[in-house]
Amino acid sequence: MRIVVLPGDGIGPEIAAATLAVLRAASERFQLGVTLEEHAVGHASLEMFGTTVRPDLIETVRAADGLILGPTATFDFKDEARGEINPSRYFRKNLDLFANIRPARTYPGRPARFGTFDLVVVRENTEGFYADRNMEQGNAELLVTPDVVVSLRRITRLCCERIAHAACRLAMKRRKRLTIVHKANVLKIGDGMFLDVCREAARGYPGLAVDDVLVDAMMAHVVRQPERFDVIVATNMFGDILSDLTAELSGSLGLGGSLNVGAKYAMAQAAHGSAPDIAGKDIANPISLILSMALLLAWNAERIGAPRFEAAAHGIEDAVAAAMREGRVTRDVGGTLGTTATGQAITDLLRSGASAS
Ligand code: ATP
Repeated sequence: MRIVVLPGDGIGPEIAAATLAVLRAASERFQLGVTLEEHAVGHASLEMFGTTVRPDLIETVRAADGLILGPTATFDFKDEARGEINPSRYFRKNLDLFANIRPARTYPGRPARFGTFDLVVVRENTEGFYADRNMEQGNAELLVTPDVVVSLRRITRLCCERIAHAACRLAMKRRKRLTIVHKANVLKIGDGMFLDVCREAARGYPGLAVDDVLVDAMMAHVVRQPERFDVIVATNMFGDILSDLTAELSGSLGLGGSLNVGAKYAMAQAAHGSAPDIAGKDIANPISLILSMALLLAWNAERIGAPRFEAAAHGIEDAVAAAMREGRVTRDVGGTLGTTATGQAITDLLRSGASAS
């Protein structure tokens, strides 16, 4: 499996290095034959090449079997004419990675302030309120006068259908429960269509239990009773916000793994941003990107029909659970280790075949 690695900005290079240590160990133990090809994106690329994403990078990624993108300094990149492309948006859009899969779970042996749970947020990834990607050309935020802004949200039946089916398929492999999160009481047409399409799609999956919750009420439900949820499907921005909450409820934003998936390609990417406040201090939690990488291996298992990739993904998840149980993790989740040492601990536990419980 040939994987392109783009370490990114802020804490990106640190958590990417820890992730690659784990990946190399997984490749050895499960005979995955992983080869890695690293390139600069974000500020490093802007300095070297005058653009945050080199134009030839897209073909390099298309020719590979998977992509690992570290967090990038999205907020800094404002003017595409000056080469300031948002790498995350660029790959999601150009590879049509329409589903963002964001699991969140608690770990045995670690205090769970809001009860134990294991859920996945499935977030639509290509349209919604994301003004930088929901238009064919141009940007969907308009400055009408210096004091008036209009931001457009795009919802299409096709995008609702494909995210609904992705969520249903995932729920059928898990506990067969689907929750549709929306705001159809206010966004009656757009979220009304999203809700209808999700309900209609779910009818095609026998035994799938479906309910729906308004996004504002969801903030209370998921804090009060997170164990109630299995797979949650949401439009782009609601899913983004909700999944930061579920990651934090699981212990830390630094546990938020995520995979962006389309029909042909997949990109592992931590759910959080580049966290410049803690960059370069060896304190960032690398588990988010390690779990994202495990999701990429599991995706590849299905893609090429190779169960050893699925076994490797489980092995990595078990090693993470063991590190959490033993407290061999970063401070944000109650440990005392740095980023590199946490990566090393997970690598050692993976090599020794540590079990989750
Ligand atoms: P960006 O502008 O790139 O989104 P940000 O700092 O605004 O960056 P996040 O990176 O998502 O937003 O992080 C919010 C806060 O959560 C950070 O300031 C940091 O303190 C914490 N955080 C995020 N990721 C991690 C991590 N991997 N480990 C520990 N703490 C983290």
